[in-house]
Parts: sequence; structure tokens; C-alpha cells
Amino acid sequence: VKKSKPTNESFLPTLNMTFLEGSERAVKWEYDPYATTAQWTCTATLVKVEPVPFAEGAFRKAYHTQDLSKPNESGRYVSKISKKPTARGSYFEDVRMQMIAKKWADKYNALKPPKKIEFLQSCVLEFVDRTSSDLVCGAEPYVEGQYRKYNNNSGFVSNDERNTPQSFSHFTYEHSNRQLLIIDIQGVGDHYTDPQIHTYDGVGFGIGNLGQKGFEKFLDTHKCNAICQYLNLQSINPKSEKSDCGTVPRPDLIFPDTSIERD
Ligand code: ATP
Ligand code: MG
Ligand code: ZN
Repeated sequence: VKKSKPTNESFLPTLNMTFLEGSERAVKWEYDPYATTAQWTCTATLVKVEPVPFAEGAFRKAYHTQDLSKPNESGRYVSKISKKPTARGSYFEDVRMQMIAKKWADKYNALKPPKKIEFLQSCVLEFVDRTSSDLVCGAEPYVEGQYRKYNNNSGFVSNDERNTPQSFSHFTYEHSNRQLLIIDIQGVGDHYTDPQIHTYDGVGFGIGNLGQKGFEKFLDTHKCNAICQYLNLQSINPKSEKSDCGTVPRPDLIFPDTSIERD
């Protein structure tokens, strides 16, 4: 007699998904930064995670993943799994951080800057059929194109001449009344992912939250640009070099010309 354990096939009718060889069941956790209660919600899904990573960063490996609950969209996702054993809670903290950054991106876009930005909708996936290793990961849509790091949480600023990512960081600092700073801006074009939030009190948002030290590192290296001016952000003058602020055209004179931003 065949022993029956719950299979993907028996799980499928409730989900209305097509079985794909190698797929597995997962619980998908999403965070709504606008909700006042019940910010976390979960749904059942089927995913297929490629066994070999296609990329890796300092801390995580990235795997192509198909989300079978998205039959109408491409369903192309990236699963990110820590290289070192990581507490389940820190995956949730990363998603919460990215979704809070998403809310700040909405505030930024509301000021009608020349280029709108977005943070990818991320989620936690828990693999319910696994019994060991990598029971949980972070996931988000896969974005085609050149992935770039624009700044980091300890004062690195890319020399690619993009204004928007740098101004967004500055914007979060000013518009939070200097209570937080969203940094580690990276992604494809202005589709961002994997941000870090520094807070005045240094509480929350994982070990990358460098608190006021993080603010200082940003203030030391950020150079205000035409978008900072357009947003009326209080100018920051790096100690080492003179800021661009005095020499760029007044953005209100050139707006809505997008020449204050390069690709
Ligand atoms: P770092 O510390 O440098 O930020 P990390 O360990 O946080 O690295 P991730 O940022 O998670 O690593 O991503 C690792 C790599 O996966 C990236 O460098 C990029 O090449 C790729 N990648 C990450 N997210 C996506 C995405 N949404 N779409 C396409 N590629 C991605
Ligand atoms: Mg990263
Ligand atoms: Zn600035």
C-alpha cells in the first residue's frame, strides 16, 4: 500500500496552479507598511528554486525562482539565502526594512522628481517540505539589466554620476526629521532592493543599522546635486571636497527637464 503524504499534486487544486517538475510548497509572508494592524499576511504558494545560484553578494546567494502562483505575470523571482546560518527573524526584518523603504519611495515620488523610483516588493518564503538547511529565504521579482550599487551603509558613493539614488538617501534623512536614513541603494536603474536603514537611536533593522555613526558616514561623503536642490533639502557639505551645490543650475529653472539626472 502506497503511503500518502501530502503531495504537491493534492495541494494544487486549492491553489489553482500547474505543477512544475521540481517545485515545492512554500508559505509566502508579505509585509504591508501602510497597515496599522496585521502588517504580516501569509499565503500558500508553489515555487521552483534553481539549485545553483546565479549571483552572490557579500552575505547572500541569489537563485532564480519561479513563483507558480503568478501565472499571469512572469513569475520570475530571485530567492536570496544567507551564506551563514541566519535566524529566521532576520529574513523578516529584511523584508520589513525593504517595505518601509518602499513607503519612503512613495513619499519621494509624490514630490514629482524627474525620475520615479521603486523598491521591489519582497517577501519571506518558508519551504514547508524541507526538513533541513535553508528552510527560509527572502524573495522578490527578478529584474533584468545591469545591477548597480549606488551607495552603501558606511559612506561609499558610486562614481556613476547618478543623482536620484543619492538624493533619495538625503531625502529620507531630512523628511524623517533626521530620525532615519535609507542607504545601501542598489538595484537595476531605479528599481531598488536590499536597502539599509540607519536610525537615530540605532535600534532595529539588523546589524547594518549603524545609528548616528551611519548618519555621519553619509554626511561625510554625500555631495548634494540638482535633485537635492529641487527637493529643497538642506545642503550637506562634505568636509573634504566642496559640494556641487553652488554651481549647478537652479532646478526650478530647468524642471521638468530631466537633464538634472543621467541614466
Ligand atoms: P551586498 O552585501 O553587496 O549587498 P548581498 O549579500 O546583500 O550583497 P544581494 O544584494 O542580496 O547580496 O544580491 C546578490 C546579487 O544578486 C546582486 O549582486 C545581483 O547581482 C543579484 N540580484 C539581487 N537582487 C536581484 C534582483 N531583484 N534581480 C536581479 N538580480 C538580483
Ligand atoms: Mg545587496
Ligand atoms: Zn543632498
